[in-house]
Amino acid sequence: MEAGKGSLDLEKEVLNEGLCTSCGACVGICPYIKVVKDRVALIEPCGLDEGQCYDFCPRTATDIAALDRMVFGKERSDSSLGSYISIEMAQARDSEIRSRAQYGGVVSALMAYAIDSGNIGAAVLTRPFDGGFMPTSVVAQGGSQVLGCARSNYIASPTLAGLNRAMKEGENALGVVGIPCQVLALRKMQASKYETGAKRVKLIIGLFCTWALSYRGFYEFLKAKVEPSLSRRLDIPPPPANILVVDTEAGTIELPLDQIRGFIKPTCAICFDMTAEFADVSVGMVEGVEDWNTLITRTEEGKRMVQRAKEEGIIETRPLEEARLSHLKEASLQKKKRAIEEIVRRTKDERNLLYLRLSDREREKFT
Ligand SMILES: Cc1cc2nc3c(=O)[nH]c(=O)nc-3n(C[C@H](O)[C@H](O)[C@H](O)COP(=O)(O)OP(=O)(O)OC[C@H]3O[C@@H](n4cnc5c(N)ncnc54)[C@H](O)[C@@H]3O)c2cc1C
Ligand code: SF4
Ligand code: SF4
Repeated sequence: MEAGKGSLDLEKEVLNEGLCTSCGACVGICPYIKVVKDRVALIEPCGLDEGQCYDFCPRTATDIAALDRMVFGKERSDSSLGSYISIEMAQARDSEIRSRAQYGGVVSALMAYAIDSGNIGAAVLTRPFDGGFMPTSVVAQGGSQVLGCARSNYIASPTLAGLNRAMKEGENALGVVGIPCQVLALRKMQASKYETGAKRVKLIIGLFCTWALSYRGFYEFLKAKVEPSLSRRLDIPPPPANILVVDTEAGTIELPLDQIRGFIKPTCAICFDMTAEFADVSVGMVEGVEDWNTLITRTEEGKRMVQRAKEEGIIETRPLEEARLSHLKEASLQKKKRAIEEIVRRTKDERNLLYLRLSDREREKFT
């Protein structure tokens, strides 16, 4: 979106400034950028003044209104949640999926259905929390592989490096599950003048996200509390719980969130998006209702997929109570306000929002 910049600019403006989200969009497109655990680094200057890495990165100049027009054909009418067609509660009808999923299993059920019904050929997902802790990307070719990726891994994952690999392998129609910064990078790939095959991604399921953890530090911290190979699931119940719950074979342990806040990736403090605003559908928890999801249907493609999945008994939906919707909007709005405050604190300039390009009309809503 900003012409004439390349890997050295990426290093200076993003990597060296601690702004990298570890999304993986710049990984695997050239030999010069590598990822070690969740740390992305330029190992050698590539010599080009302009590059895909800079263009795709979610922390380089990002024109929100232009992306809205590309994805939704219009600018947003809702400043807190972005464009959407409907917001409801949903859950997978298959109890096996629900029992293996993080909450209601809507993400796994929809993506498995998209593959098994032939709408897409494969999906790029993230390996779940499995005691090895460091997530990696997985290219799932069928519903059972999708289910093998169920559950949340709260460590930042370079998932889009897996997409870059899958695109080279030439699959025609792909699905991707990603957190908001990954979805943003993927839409920037699709908007870019560089042709990588990202336009072959036909279904993007976004996850709600407030923050993700750095692998380093968190792994050592957790290892001191629990034997990694015994861990089965991580969960962060909604406020006011203020705990991280670790389910292990030997029982459940609860860790105060205050002990892990130091491992949150610094870039999350400047993240503007809680609900994956550029996804086809976005999925999160329903606070206080454990095996249901909040489902935001955003695009016509997303609507068609959700409709078919309902008709075929893959998922069921219910209206989301007005009070829950207001709460979701408020939480999302607060994340945006906090992000802008933090950016301005860093730049010391109300007009310099680092990567965010907002219209004056939108900007006014977050002061
Ligand atoms: C880092 C992180 C932070 C989150 N924060 C919130 C939040 O603040 N509020 C909220 O409501 N929900 C949050 N979620 C989303 C929530 O945990 C569930 O993923 C979502 O509600 C879908 O539930 P499900 O039962 O349908 O998921 P499942 O059917 O179990 O599917 C989970 C999917 O998540 C993918 N995944 C797991 N870990 C990662 C990762 N690190 N990066 C990318 N994809 C991953 C898997 O590939 C899988 O496809 C967060 C998720 C993550 C990964
Ligand atoms: S594209 Fe993603 S992984 Fe690469 S520098 Fe930007 S945020 Fe980090
Ligand atoms: S808060 Fe934003 S930057 Fe941080 S992991 Fe979530 S989506 Fe990415």
